[in-house]
Amino acid sequence: MKYFSTQNNSPLAGFREAATRGQAPDKGLYFPCELPVLPKSLIENLSSLSKAEIAFQVISPYIGSEIPADALFRICEETVNFDFPLVDINDSISSLELFHGPTLAFKDVGARFMSRCLGYFSSGSDKKLTILVATSGDTGSAVANGFLDVENVNVVILYPSGKVSNIQELQLTTLGRNITALEVSGNFDDCQALVKQAFLDTELNSRLNLTSANSINVARWLPQQFYYFFALQQWKHEQMPVICVPSGNFGNICAGLIAHKTGMPALHFIAACNCNDVFTNYLQHGDYLPKPAVATYSNAMDVGDPSNFVRLLELFGHSVGNMREIISSCSVNDLQTTDTIREVEKNFNYLLEPHGAVAYKALKDYLDLHPGQKGIILETAHPIKFREVVEKATGKVVEIPESVKYLHGKEKQSIPINPDFQSFKDFLMEGKFS
Ligand SMILES: *Cc1c(COP(=O)(O)O)cnc(C)c1O
Repeated sequence: MKYFSTQNNSPLAGFREAATRGQAPDKGLYFPCELPVLPKSLIENLSSLSKAEIAFQVISPYIGSEIPADALFRICEETVNFDFPLVDINDSISSLELFHGPTLAFKDVGARFMSRCLGYFSSGSDKKLTILVATSGDTGSAVANGFLDVENVNVVILYPSGKVSNIQELQLTTLGRNITALEVSGNFDDCQALVKQAFLDTELNSRLNLTSANSINVARWLPQQFYYFFALQQWKHEQMPVICVPSGNFGNICAGLIAHKTGMPALHFIAACNCNDVFTNYLQHGDYLPKPAVATYSNAMDVGDPSNFVRLLELFGHSVGNMREIISSCSVNDLQTTDTIREVEKNFNYLLEPHGAVAYKALKDYLDLHPGQKGIILETAHPIKFREVVEKATGKVVEIPESVKYLHGKEKQSIPINPDFQSFKDFLMEGKFS
């Protein structure tokens, strides 16, 4: 499989090059040159296939021969070795719980796949790979966890001091081994600026093999197709589902749509947004008008210019009309979000967190207008990660899941740095983390 850049000004790249570069040299996003056609047998035999077999069949055409089948199968097995239950909330809405991975967020899937691919490519290479990640919380922990103990790869995470939750900080700072956490006395933008400048620094790049792990990387984006198939595998109804995805940078829904284009059955997609409604407005009026992000309860979707919008354009031949045939979008505000968390807990005894609640509200409104249809929301994080909002909405305490109890009493190991590039560069040049 070859990938082109959405800016059309870079040479075509294979999977290895696209995954190692992250972004194309012309700053475009990599997109597959031709979309595969999924084998009919995959959909027909879905119920009898294992998760790893499904993942392997879905992703193989995108990798081609760049990772041998047996190694790719093992990567798939490790990527999806936790549960993805589809839970009925009521008669018409089911929740695909994507928070049973090691960091309790759906980003685990993409991060685990990407880390193992890069680990595969860099094994046997004489130069270690150093991944730089700036994080406001979820991305850093998923990436750090995904890369833990991956050979020949070091991860340096930059997070804003005092601005991530307690659980998130422990997830970032207690892994050790090939993971180093830098606690930056600044905000997320400071962290991101340091990382961006590092990629532009010639001296640094000649010393270290630097790469990023952000969500535009094809190795993080494409494996997000997997769980749409896991949802269908558990879908009990005759009619195909309406699939509602809480969206920020639109990587997740774009993966669902590429799966659909290549043969995965679905009735309709909804991009559920919070007050950051550029895409909702685009579908309505046909004009794409990015704007600064505003802060909401569903903060992983506080994005004013979704990076994967260009991929949506590619997928639909740059036509808003084509998009409208299969996608709709809805913007949900904070008050509606907490009302939804409260009502769903009260009426159906099901606990949503803010991102899932945005999706629930968007899907419910859609189904009210389309009687007889049924749908799935993607629940992208565990309620414990948004504990304050959830507890305030329901008046009940969120139980701490077993899988994070081990963090209790652990000591954070972080290196404090100021948000100035020279100290960051000195730290990297000394190479103490490797
Ligand atoms: C990242 C994230 C999203 C948004 O996903 P996109 O692929 O950026 O649209 C939604 N919910 C949670 C909990 C997230 O961490």
